Amino acid sequence: MSNPITNDRPIPRPGVLAIDPYVPGKSGVPGATKIYKLSSNETPLGASPHAIEAFATLASKLDLYPDGSVARLRAAIGKRYGLDPDRLVCGNGSDDLLHLLSLAYLGPGDEGIFTTHGFLVYKIAILSAGGTPVVAPEHNLTANADEILACVTPRTKIVYLANPNNPTGTYMPFEEVKRLHAALPKHVVLVLDAAYAEYVRRNDYAEGIELVATNENVVMTRTFSKIFGLANLRLGWMYAPAHICGAINRIRGPFNVNGTALEAGIAAVEDVMHVEAAIAHNEKWLPWMTNEIEKIGLEVTPSVANFVLVHFPEKSGVSADAADAFLAARGIIVRAVGAYGLPDCLRMTIGTEEANRLVVEVLRDYVAEARRG
Ligand SMILES: *Cc1c(COP(=O)(O)O)cnc(C)c1O
Repeated sequence: MSNPITNDRPIPRPGVLAIDPYVPGKSGVPGATKIYKLSSNETPLGASPHAIEAFATLASKLDLYPDGSVARLRAAIGKRYGLDPDRLVCGNGSDDLLHLLSLAYLGPGDEGIFTTHGFLVYKIAILSAGGTPVVAPEHNLTANADEILACVTPRTKIVYLANPNNPTGTYMPFEEVKRLHAALPKHVVLVLDAAYAEYVRRNDYAEGIELVATNENVVMTRTFSKIFGLANLRLGWMYAPAHICGAINRIRGPFNVNGTALEAGIAAVEDVMHVEAAIAHNEKWLPWMTNEIEKIGLEVTPSVANFVLVHFPEKSGVSADAADAFLAARGIIVRAVGAYGLPDCLRMTIGTEEANRLVVEVLRDYVAEARRG
């Protein structure tokens, strides 16, 4: 039986119009001469020179379809991380895979869980699949295993955990992730989004490879957009049990990874030195930025990723909106995170040395001016 016709034009499935479209970080300021884009957690080191070279070789082959199975790319990723290529699926950014996972495992009335300040793509993915988003509270801006477990019902089908999380920069220790997994029903897919894994320097952190390898219901997603510097090409991958790869391979676009992303991705994943340089840069500048911003008198949430969340509580005479405008007027673009339930915060990516020093200088000026009233 088809639904009765109630409208004189097509209407989307329930849930679609409930989505607040994702608003990406700004990329320009009208009138500014030099722009420092610190709004999307891109790497200040750029892409690997080898990836840029590989990209260029595609210019004469734009008319040809790419290899839809991305076999050489999966082999390169598998070699680098010690994973079976047959258990890898690549996507048009990891966003593609996050969406496909909801599409495959959620139906109308099914629930997907994420946390209060979790990455916004999860809610969009759940709603677009027709599912119901369920938000688990965080403690101290950090995902909490017990709160997530308290949200589980017989309708729960998927749990998304960004570890570390964007935009907070906080993480859940691996023992906690394992405890969360152990208490989840076996039919619930646990998605560990490890977009910032390379940046984390903590002994109690793991990206989740071990959990994927030894269970039937855990998926790890990774991206080439952050430390690998290929955000513009849209490339991500997931490591998952064979049966989940089988499901996603059935519903993904047959050519969801384009040929330039494929070739540049191989070169990027093989350029270990470039990633090491990015890690070293972040290890130096993340603590520097945190300390310098704290010295100005602003609270910074301790971050293990390549960005910091800075607090501008209005009761102390500052404001995130005013600081955002003050920074933008000097060419510094940061990320307002009101959509993440953090209206008094700004998220700032760790940039080049020049950008980082400028951010601190401008923030110092802003706070001085704001407190003078
Ligand atoms: C940036 C980011 C991604 C990456 O998305 P792509 O589609 O691969 O560019 C995934 N998850 C989180 C939490 C992120 O911050």
